[in-house]
Amino acid sequence: MRVKVKPMDCTGCALCELACGFHWDEAFSLISASIMQYRAEEKKDYLGIIVKTEEDLFLGRPEGAEAVKLGELQKGGGGGGASAKPILIREACDMCESVGKDPQCVAICPHDALYVE
Ligand code: SF4
Ligand code: SF4
Repeated sequence: MRVKVKPMDCTGCALCELACGFHWDEAFSLISASIMQYRAEEKKDYLGIIVKTEEDLFLGRPEGAEAVKLGELQKGGGGGGASAKPILIREACDMCESVGKDPQCVAICPHDALYVE
């Protein structure tokens, strides 16, 4: 089971990032979240979501969803690109189990763009 993304339903509100930051730091901070928005510098309206796990990054982007192994990404492969680099040093998603809650990012998303499968 993991958090997955329906990127075409995401509006970029960042509530999932804030919820995850609060999960880790008990503060509304974006810098520690295991989930983050992915934007392509060359395309103005391009928006996706990245979720970091222990093994990979789940990339939900307009062209589709895929899991990219962390090793591949660090070698320059996969589709994360420069936008994915900040998340590599963060905690991996623990499905909010360490605080005994259901996945908070999924619960807070107002557009049902996140789900567990
Ligand atoms: S399930 Fe919890 S730890 Fe995982 S990305 Fe969502 S808020 Fe963060
Ligand atoms: S809470 Fe939902 S709509 Fe908002 S940025 Fe996260 S995935 Fe997108």
